[in-house]
Amino acid sequence: MRLSKFLLNTTKDITSEAKLISHQLMLRSGMIKQVSSGVYCWLPLGVKVLDKIKCIIKHELDSINSHEIILPSLQPLSIWEKSGRALEESDLKSQIFHLTDQKQNKYVLPPSGEEVVTDLFSSSVHSYKDVNKILYQITWKFRDEIRPRHGVMRAKEFLMKDAYSFDVSKEEALLSYEKILVAYLKIFKKLELEVVPVLAPTGAMGGDYSHEFHVLAQNGESIIYYQKELLNYLKSNDFSLDEYEKFYAKEEEKHTNENMDSLNILKSKSIEVGHLFYLGQKYSKDLNCTYQDKDGSLRFPEMGCYGIGITRLIAAIIENSYDENGIIWPDSISPFRFVIINIRSENNECNKLSERIYGNLSNKYDVLYDDTNSSAGKKFADMDLVGISWQIIIGPKHAINNSVELKNRKTGEVKILKEEELYNIIKEIQPFYL
Ligand code: ATP
Ligand code: MG
Repeated sequence: MRLSKFLLNTTKDITSEAKLISHQLMLRSGMIKQVSSGVYCWLPLGVKVLDKIKCIIKHELDSINSHEIILPSLQPLSIWEKSGRALEESDLKSQIFHLTDQKQNKYVLPPSGEEVVTDLFSSSVHSYKDVNKILYQITWKFRDEIRPRHGVMRAKEFLMKDAYSFDVSKEEALLSYEKILVAYLKIFKKLELEVVPVLAPTGAMGGDYSHEFHVLAQNGESIIYYQKELLNYLKSNDFSLDEYEKFYAKEEEKHTNENMDSLNILKSKSIEVGHLFYLGQKYSKDLNCTYQDKDGSLRFPEMGCYGIGITRLIAAIIENSYDENGIIWPDSISPFRFVIINIRSENNECNKLSERIYGNLSNKYDVLYDDTNSSAGKKFADMDLVGISWQIIIGPKHAINNSVELKNRKTGEVKILKEEELYNIIKEIQPFYL
């Protein structure tokens, strides 16, 4: 991608309401623009990052045999009344956006998808042989947050991955729960993010067993309590719920005053980026979703639901990975794999070399080529701000010898390399993020 053709909208002019560094950097780098309170446009740079995260999530969920679906954003109010979540007494009621069509039919913009997915399952699966399924979607969710804040961290419209499991027994449902938990750990590892799953209250979702995934962050709005040794356990590759439950890890509401010192329990501010719920038969009963069992009787499937707040996750990643010059993306979700910075676009040698390297790399990699005639200073500042993990810098001093500088955004390390050496080193750098 040539920068001259791309819409990169870096700016210094941002609202003083942006208090969190992630909010500031997302606005400054031109990933997002606010349209109204809690409502944002995503610009091409932001969409690149969103797509890479989606790809990592899809890969891990597909590899545990779950299947992607897309549920509608216009959902009949009637189905939300069946579950009770749109009724007066529900905690969720005040957060639901309502719409009416010209024939006076009433709709809800979904804050999550339990009702419609249960209905879909009910009409698609009839026999106990077909029950064991995990379905997921990555779609925009809508919540009428009373106080949207911190950019995409708490918005009225946000991208969520929501998965739903259907099983024939509680035991099987908890195995699905565990499978998703392990998939989440893999996803967050690829995002180079340290997360802590903690026991959590079930709230408006229903069910009686739940965990939240938290990213430790000084500016986080949540508080969690966990044993330090848990972090090491999570790094090991063989996770089981049974082993995990031996550690203390609780969200604030679930925390009881156990002896923090003797158990070595830490208290930390954090950002909730994901949530798991074992739901039991709440939704299958409310929506009369049944399957036929071996003996011919009708039974309700056991369900679970599992969210990741993708847009919030991006903000959480930035809170944990930046310096005074801007964002530092984990390799796996850098908006482009490489950026070629031609610092003298009017210089013949620089142009020839830049074009050639761009031609050679762009077949295989996702490359941004700064072919504009901005000053070198602006180019460096912009690229440090947007945080692409590898910069290939081409200037007259080295171009004359067919050499470039390769800079790693995270470490700041710069290597001067001949063109051929550059290609050899690049072969070692993973082309994709999976
Ligand atoms: P919170 O406690 O922060 O309000 P929640 O517990 O209501 O979130 P869930 O219903 O568990 O949220 O939704 C799944 C995930 O969606 C959350 O873990 C979070 O990452 C994300 N999320 C929830 N609400 C918002 C929002 N208003 N803006 C951005 N992301 C959100
Ligand atoms: Mg939650």
